[in-house]
Amino acid sequence: MVEMAVIGGGPAGMAAALQCSRSGIETVLYERQELGGLLREANLVENYLGFPGGVSGHELCSLFSEQMRLQGVEVRREEVVSLDHDGELFVIGTACGEERAEMAVLATGTVPSPPGQGLDADQELVFDSVIPLAEREGLHVAVLGGGDAAYDYALRLSAANTVTIISRSLPRCLPLLRSRAEGSPSVSLMDRSALTALRKAEGQVSIELITDGRPSVLEADALLLAVGREPDDALLRGGLGGLSESLIKDGVFYIVGDVVNGPRRQASIAAADGIRAAMGAREARGL
Ligand SMILES: Cc1cc2nc3c(=O)[nH]c(=O)nc-3n(C[C@H](O)[C@H](O)[C@H](O)COP(=O)(O)OP(=O)(O)OC[C@H]3O[C@@H](n4cnc5c(N)ncnc54)[C@H](O)[C@@H]3O)c2cc1C
Repeated sequence: MVEMAVIGGGPAGMAAALQCSRSGIETVLYERQELGGLLREANLVENYLGFPGGVSGHELCSLFSEQMRLQGVEVRREEVVSLDHDGELFVIGTACGEERAEMAVLATGTVPSPPGQGLDADQELVFDSVIPLAEREGLHVAVLGGGDAAYDYALRLSAANTVTIISRSLPRCLPLLRSRAEGSPSVSLMDRSALTALRKAEGQVSIELITDGRPSVLEADALLLAVGREPDDALLRGGLGGLSESLIKDGVFYIVGDVVNGPRRQASIAAADGIRAAMGAREARGL
């Protein structure tokens, strides 16, 4: 048994686990992939204090991981497949068995929204993460989406590839990302373009589009989807059922970061949520 189980090793979960450990609460952090969460996707993080020239998501996450290691936070590289409460303790289920915990933090972030139109990400030609493409060179990548993530992906890939950003409407991204994309010789922009069909053949994707009423076909080596994300709250729909509200009231359960932050999904907010939860847990224990 442990005192605190933190589920999710993005900025929210890492901050919660770090602060709990510093408070003397025996803590384990569960992460199914590498530490860092969604922030590992980010090209250039310019709004995280302490990095005047910005920092890549990859580098920032490496620093977070190092901090966790140096502070002695116990990280279990396991996926939590169930979360229950037996009336006294949380029961955390993984492929390795069950662990019991007095308190829990849920920091599971988001998952890509289903894109529809038969666009399921196969991680060969159609992707929903930039990471498998990040080391590739000389490709023509089509990025579908008009938000910050689509532009951040495009700018990252444009260092070694050509990129076309396809957006159904006018872009919703930060103006500074738009102007960087407009200024890049490797990035082309297709606004007001709706994808109507996708064909895959011989390592290529043919993307059929309608732009301002005119049909066209764009050939690309890969299609990267950036069409939105939704909360990864599957664990709340399991055995915990309707108990979560009363556990939150009792100060033993916390839900933090992007999984509950609606459109305000930023690393600093997630990290602050994690710290706030850890401080709440400390108070609840009378420490
Ligand atoms: C392209 C891009 C650029 C961005 N740029 C910026 C930026 O410049 N500045 C900024 O502040 N923010 C930026 N963000 C947003 C930022 O990445 C997120 O706000 C932040 O990562 C959210 O942290 P989180 O801990 O709440 O969730 P996440 O980072 O999503 O972490 C959740 C973690 O939980 C793990 N997990 C989920 N379920 C389970 C389970 N059942 N068992 C075990 N582990 C589980 C996941 O694997 C994941 O690692 C960017 C995002 C993207 C996509």
